[in-house]
Amino acid sequence: MTQTISYSIEGCLYLSITNRCTLVCDFCPKTLGHPEVKGYDLTMEQRPSVAEIIESIGSPADYPEIIFCGFGEPTIRLKVLIEVAEFIQSKGGRVRVNTDGLANLVHKRNVLPELGRCVDAISVSMNAQNKRIYDQHCQPALPNSYASMLDFLKQAPHYISDVTATALDGLDGVDIKACEQLAAQCGVKFRKRTLGRVG
Ligand code: SF4
Repeated sequence: MTQTISYSIEGCLYLSITNRCTLVCDFCPKTLGHPEVKGYDLTMEQRPSVAEIIESIGSPADYPEIIFCGFGEPTIRLKVLIEVAEFIQSKGGRVRVNTDGLANLVHKRNVLPELGRCVDAISVSMNAQNKRIYDQHCQPALPNSYASMLDFLKQAPHYISDVTATALDGLDGVDIKACEQLAAQCGVKFRKRTLGRVG
């Protein structure tokens, strides 16, 4: 089987660089045992190297945006992400990272200055308006995940100009209006996402 590293949806290119993350979201196809999106099987036998990821991209300028997003948290492979993002920008491409916002907690330092140098936009999965609902749906392995994610959101605009918090509409207990207000308090944009849609 050929492993999917990059996959195209509605003209944009998505990169799947890891299958690891510290959450076990109950809405995630990976958690549900079907790591598939829009017909692409994102099952990962082996994490791709920088060279393999770059080869799978082809010409970055062919896409309006290249997005790090898969069934895994891309910032877990920070060094790889940065190398690939630098390549994309050097070839005239635009970089977005879809993240759980836990990079500072995982790496035990503020990684936003590094991301700010090679990322044009970042979308952070806020997922819930409070810790109780977040923990219910995301089952974080690391203590203080919700607070750390909110702190990441508040700090991100100091380093990246385009920051968006997202939450999924239709999840039990998730109050989209309250999530939107919380995003505004953090000084970032908000986007309501639809269950089952990547982007
Ligand atoms: S953080 Fe992303 S990859 Fe990990 S379980 Fe949640 S939705 Fe899935």
